Formats: sequence, C-alpha cells, structure tokens
Amino acid sequence: MKDLFGNTLAELRSIAARLDLPPFAARQIADWLYAKGAADFAGMTNLPRAARERLAAEYTIGRAAPARRAESRDGTLKYLFPAGENGFVETAVIPDGERRTLCLSTQVGCRRACRFCATGRQGFHGQLGAGAILNQYASCPERERITNIVFMGMGEPLDNPDATLAALEVFTADWGYAMSPTRLTVSTVGIRPALGRLIAESRCHIALSVHSPFPEERRRLVPAEAAHPMAAAISELREARIGGQRRVMIEYIPFADYNDSPRHAAALARLLRGLRCRVNLIPFNAIPGCDLAPTDPARMAAFQAELERRGFVATIRKSKGADIAAACGLLSTAKTTPGAGGK
Ligand code: SAH
Repeated sequence: MKDLFGNTLAELRSIAARLDLPPFAARQIADWLYAKGAADFAGMTNLPRAARERLAAEYTIGRAAPARRAESRDGTLKYLFPAGENGFVETAVIPDGERRTLCLSTQVGCRRACRFCATGRQGFHGQLGAGAILNQYASCPERERITNIVFMGMGEPLDNPDATLAALEVFTADWGYAMSPTRLTVSTVGIRPALGRLIAESRCHIALSVHSPFPEERRRLVPAEAAHPMAAAISELREARIGGQRRVMIEYIPFADYNDSPRHAAALARLLRGLRCRVNLIPFNAIPGCDLAPTDPARMAAFQAELERRGFVATIRKSKGADIAAACGLLSTAKTTPGAGGK
C-alpha cells in the first residue's frame, strides 16, 4: 500500500489515469486530501464509488498523528511524528504573540554534521517523503493557528530537494493549502545545485546558514563548506535578484571568542555586499560535548550594531523551548524509542 497524501496534482493526475478514474478525479482527490483533510476514502463523497474502491485497493491516505507531545514553560510545543520505516522526526510549534511558527523536519537526522547541532550528531537515518513533511503540518493539533512555517527542524532540506519542493508546491498551490509563499522559509547550508531549484521552482523565503565570513573557519563549523562554498551560494542568491515580497535571511550564531568580533561583523558585511538580505543572529543553544559557547548579550548587541552601522538589518532571534530540547539545533531523535517515555 502506498500513501496518497503528499502527491502533487500532476502526480494525482497520473494516478487517476492509471486507475482509470474520471478526468476530474485528481482535482477532487487533492481537495479532499489537503483543503478538506479527509481521513478516509469513504468520505470522498463526490467521487464515484468505483473510483473510491479502486483507490482504497492500492492506497492508504497516509496521515499520521503525533506519537508524543511535550510542552515548554514558554509555550513552545514539540511533537514526535512517525516518518515511515526510517523512524521519527521532531516538529516544534513556537508561539510569539499572535504568531505560531511551525518548525518542521525534512530528514531523519542529517548528514551535514555541523559542529554545534544536535541533529548533526545523530547522523543521517533517512529521507522524508513529501507526505511525511506535510503531515507535520496537517496532523499538528495546533494546525488552525499556524501562521508561518519554517523548514528549520531536523535535516538539510536541500539534501532532500524533491520532497522539499513537492511539499512547498502543496503548501502554496490553489489545489493544496493555498498559503502565501511569504509564510514559508526554507533554511539551508547552501547545497548546490539544489539551491538553484529552490530559487527557481518556489517563491518561499530562503535562509542561508553562514556562521562565519571566513571559509576556513566556516568549514570547521559547517563541514559542508568544503564541497558547497558559501561564496557560490551567496553569488547565486545575489544574481537571482530576490526582492519584492520574497526575502533572503542570513543566519549567524555568534560563539564566544570565536566568530563574534567586530572584525567578523565587518567581514560578514563585505561578504554580503550587493545581496538584499537580513541577518538573523541566533543565540547558541549549547549541546553536550561541543566545545563552543554562546557569546554574551553585550557582544551579541555589539555585533548587531556593527552590522547595522554597515547598512544591514540585523535581528536577534528569541530562543524558545530549550527546556524541552525544542530550540534551534536541539532536535534529535537519537534516543527515541517508539512508544517509550519522555527523553
Ligand atoms: N540544515 C538547515 C536547517 C536546519 S537548522 C540549516 O542548517 O540551515 C536551522 C538553523 O538552526 C540553522 O541556521 C542552524 O545553523 C541553527 N542551529 C543549529 N544548531 C544550533 C544550536 N545548537 N543553537 C542555535 N542554532 C542552531
């Protein structure tokens, strides 16, 4: 049995053709799967009964409820979602006033092994299909209140570009969830050529994890720098002339006495020259066994001021959910046994 959930309209059309369903069926199935959130085929009442039976013989809907939930003192929620035979992924819901940001995962673990990231420590355990990515939204109990979606959970989205792009299509298409692409942000270390596809095939915001303006130093933080230099990613973003409603965000974690000096801020400003972007400074959430430490608030503010003096909009991300390990870089299912207690 295969999952129907996560298929794009084009994929549903070929499924409909293969199963000899009427031509209008694909659009109706999409409507049931996404806008209407159907739980079974029997409920797809405007489809001929024979069509429903043929679908049910080969497919399941493929939605799955979270297996576990944790709530932080600050209101941040963390869900554990099943991801097929590859295990589980974590998804966070981060409240901020009226906003509710859903932070979703694209892989079980990650192969990029960034020095400061708990998911990187876990290693790579499998890809999520588009259905498993979308399910983190569709089956999220807070779904109705979600205002923004960031692909900043476990995994490197551009190491899984087909599923990431298909999920973005379903989120934004009129036959899908019909969301504005300005509500969606994909964060990446800058994998190419998949970055080019993200630029061309979607209209969502793009966040690039930079963390140091110096290639050698960045390589010690983000090993992907060796094969995927940030300079090439930044050139590609610059040449794409991303503007209007669409935004580029540069992510930077200032570590104490490592990459938090005024010299770093100046070099970062030089590196980003000519790129329309904002810089988001992320407070480091320390992880066990990592020799790096967060910079102090005064150094953080000075780094921000230096960037602003050089003409950039720089913001400091509020860190939330640390007490339930739902904050940036803390998501990991390494110790997760299905159905077991909390971690
Ligand atoms: N693989 C993608 C998306 C996942 S991480 C990427 O690297 O962009 C989302 C953001 O959280 C990235 O900017 C990442 O560098 C940052 N991050 C990772 N570990 C962190 C930690 N321990 N503390 C704070 N931010 C962290």
